[in-house]
Amino acid sequence: MKKERKPIRKVVNCPICHKEFDTRGLLGHIKIEHGKPRSEVKDLDKIIEKAEPKKSERAERVFELVDRLKEIRKRKADLEKEDLSGFFSTDETVKSLKDGLDDLEEEIKEELEDLGIIEEDIEEDEED
Ligand SMILES: [Zn+2]
Repeated sequence: MKKERKPIRKVVNCPICHKEFDTRGLLGHIKIEHGKPRSEVKDLDKIIEKAEPKKSERAERVFELVDRLKEIRKRKADLEKEDLSGFFSTDETVKSLKDGLDDLEEEIKEELEDLGIIEEDIEEDEED
């Protein structure tokens, strides 16, 4: 099951007054403040398509995702340690917990890839 990702905010400048908005805000702004439907604004779709996240937002998001990834991996490691005793090995709760953590890990890795971060970038400072 795929959950919807919280999209990273992308910023663009209004092609008419050059104020800065996020992509959704721009559409509303053009409609309300300039009184134009989006189809009347030249290249609007292209402008939105080319929108980039603010550098600071991208960095913030990357840090957040890397932290979450590390947290998830730690929890998985903890689960596996406990599992060595054999006590939990038949426990469905632990299994589904593990599956859930695997899914989360995959989602975060995908989003990091979208942001241009690959596995090696993350692992580097992990252990020696
Ligand atoms: Zn404007």
